[in-house]
Amino acid sequence: MKTTYEAKIVGKLTVCKHEIEIVCVHCGDSVSEHEESTGTCTNCGKPWSPRQSTSVWATSVPQAGAKTLGE
Ligand SMILES: [Zn+2]
Repeated sequence: MKTTYEAKIVGKLTVCKHEIEIVCVHCGDSVSEHEESTGTCTNCGKPWSPRQSTSVWATSVPQAGAKTLGE
């Protein structure tokens, strides 16, 4: 399940466009809304634990610890 946040200005801060994807901690497969409701990963069959994978578009200063994507 991916949620994309467009770049925006919040107060005096510029928030880069970024994307947060919730993935299965066991196999790294993206967690769908159905899997989120059942709590079981259909890819590996284990109860998944949320792990957020954050992608940031490098339009300004990259966030520490986040992988960056060229655009
Ligand atoms: Zn899995």
